[in-house]
Amino acid sequence: MHAHDLHVVAPDTGVTLASIDPQRTPGLSGSKEDERARAEAELADNIEAMKLLQRRLYAEGKRALLVVLQGMDAGGKDGTIRHVLGGLNPQGVEVTSFKRPTERELAHDFLWRVHRHTPGVGMIGVFNRSHYEDVLVVRVHSLVPEAVWSGRYEQINAFERLLAARGTVIRKFFLHISKEEQRERFMARLAEPEKQWKFEPGDLAERKHWDDYQAAYETALARCSTDDAPWFVIPADRKWYRNWAISTILRRTLEEMAPMPPKPDFDPASIVID
Ligand code: ATP
Ligand code: MG
Repeated sequence: MHAHDLHVVAPDTGVTLASIDPQRTPGLSGSKEDERARAEAELADNIEAMKLLQRRLYAEGKRALLVVLQGMDAGGKDGTIRHVLGGLNPQGVEVTSFKRPTERELAHDFLWRVHRHTPGVGMIGVFNRSHYEDVLVVRVHSLVPEAVWSGRYEQINAFERLLAARGTVIRKFFLHISKEEQRERFMARLAEPEKQWKFEPGDLAERKHWDDYQAAYETALARCSTDDAPWFVIPADRKWYRNWAISTILRRTLEEMAPMPPKPDFDPASIVID
């Protein structure tokens, strides 16, 4: 059994987030301490493998990989980027963080600001939040009428199909933390002077809508997990498990893409350099 199969949301099947324990560590076995040591060793191994594959993806120059990260506040999006993708060649990775849209962005369709940040061939694009905010925070706070947001699931699927047709492989991760874990991470942020800036009093207002967010996520996961662009629900209370699971899935994805540098159109053996 691979983490790949373990966490994927099967297309057209719903998920009940409440039934997925955010502390689970499937795919690893042994005592908790062994698990963690193994996960950390395999993370390092996965990163080494991804480095080589990234270089080939870049050299091949035909396809791209898009990694979408979503989760509640303090869910670990930044940590995932640092620990899983931070070891890759920065020239081949483009990270985009999607914040509240500007006036100019709001004057366009919701995908306008997203499309221009999709990775070009040879690149790995990482979305820290994404177009899914437009069916999450927007739905929870009724920022647009239901008639508008409810049409977006199909629009997102069509958009992702378009990207896939151009050679972009898409992998989407929901970092699934418990409400208790969020409380602990907020408290840790408040207790640590170097982390206090990360805490926003507004985050507590969002926390009050926890159940509404879980429901909005369940709809997005059910309606937008496709063969081209599957969603994965990653148990994320344990950071070492989260990093292991995501790196394992991304490594496998790149291995399946099997990028190859182009063959030179000359015979390297015939070249003489004096
Ligand atoms: P951290 O977890 O470190 O706080 P963050 O991703 O929450 O990072 P912030 O700048 O704190 O970054 O928050 C970005 C905010 O922008 C989030 O509250 C998010 O819901 C909001 N946002 C993103 N996209 C949209 C959108 N399309 N419409 C409305 N709000 C959005
Ligand atoms: Mg925030």
